[in-house]
Amino acid sequence: MLKKAKESLPKVQNKCERFEMPKVKGHVEGNRTIIINIYAIADLLARPVDHILKYLQRELATPGFLQDKRLVFGRKLTSAMINDKLNKYVQIFVLCDKCCKPDTQLLEEDGKLIKKCMACGTKSHVLAKI
Ligand SMILES: [Zn+2]
Repeated sequence: MLKKAKESLPKVQNKCERFEMPKVKGHVEGNRTIIINIYAIADLLARPVDHILKYLQRELATPGFLQDKRLVFGRKLTSAMINDKLNKYVQIFVLCDKCCKPDTQLLEEDGKLIKKCMACGTKSHVLAKI
């Protein structure tokens, strides 16, 4: 029964399967969850740590802060929960909608957030807000 319940959990839809999604590394300490590789992930995605943090906080409905190069969340979270939200962040804010490459920049045009791909030149309107 338990196995079945696990399998029926919705999976993150990954439309850019060629891109290897970064995964968080960390552990639970008391009632907190510590992520130790958030800066490495931010480097890889070429996005500010604060931007990623804001998104994760809102999506996980959990306050978080940066301390000693680590990200600390104020409750127990599984890495699967965090990776799920991180994957969404990457698809929304990093990967090109057309070619799935991560070489994009975020720009503002006429008050709209635009994701511009440096590889194929595609511009897409980012609807999600942080
Ligand atoms: Zn592209």
